[in-house]
Amino acid sequence: MKKILQKDDKNGSVLREHAKEVPLEDIQGTRVKNIISDMKKTLAAEGYGVGLAAPQIGESLRIFIVGPRAFTATENKAGKLREPIPEGSEQIYINPKITKSSKRQIDMHEGCLSVRDWYGMVKRSDKVNVEAYDENGEKFQRGASGLLAQIFQHEIDHLNGSLFVDTATDLKEMPPEDENDNEK
Ligand SMILES: [Zn+2]
Repeated sequence: MKKILQKDDKNGSVLREHAKEVPLEDIQGTRVKNIISDMKKTLAAEGYGVGLAAPQIGESLRIFIVGPRAFTATENKAGKLREPIPEGSEQIYINPKITKSSKRQIDMHEGCLSVRDWYGMVKRSDKVNVEAYDENGEKFQRGASGLLAQIFQHEIDHLNGSLFVDTATDLKEMPPEDENDNEK
């Protein structure tokens, strides 16, 4: 498990870098496998996380993962779930690209594991299509709407050095007992 870098950490500048593409021949190599494994463990240990990008654990590479909680929350929109995330059911996105996004944008409530306890409203496309490679080096496409589409946009922002607080409105600090949203 790794420490999740925070926006104002001394070594947090990696959060502001444009992360590098993973060379396709390296996807199944030990280094990338270890980073993905660290990302899974780190996200699983978080009470509220739904997604994590590699720069959040200090690796400037274009990789993000989506945790199983994202899918439960999509179904019921009931806010955060406190049970531990089962390991091994994450989705892995390597070198992700948004290939299509809806013109329609909606205001979504958002938080981030690298900006702990802060929440705000961010305009996100309602629907996006993403193309990426999985951990076996296979290319795939996935379309999403709602929370999953929001996670895709939030995580790809991380890979481009952006944080949600850069564009969010109505930013508020909410301690863990009171907040009722997911962090990414
Ligand atoms: Zn985030």
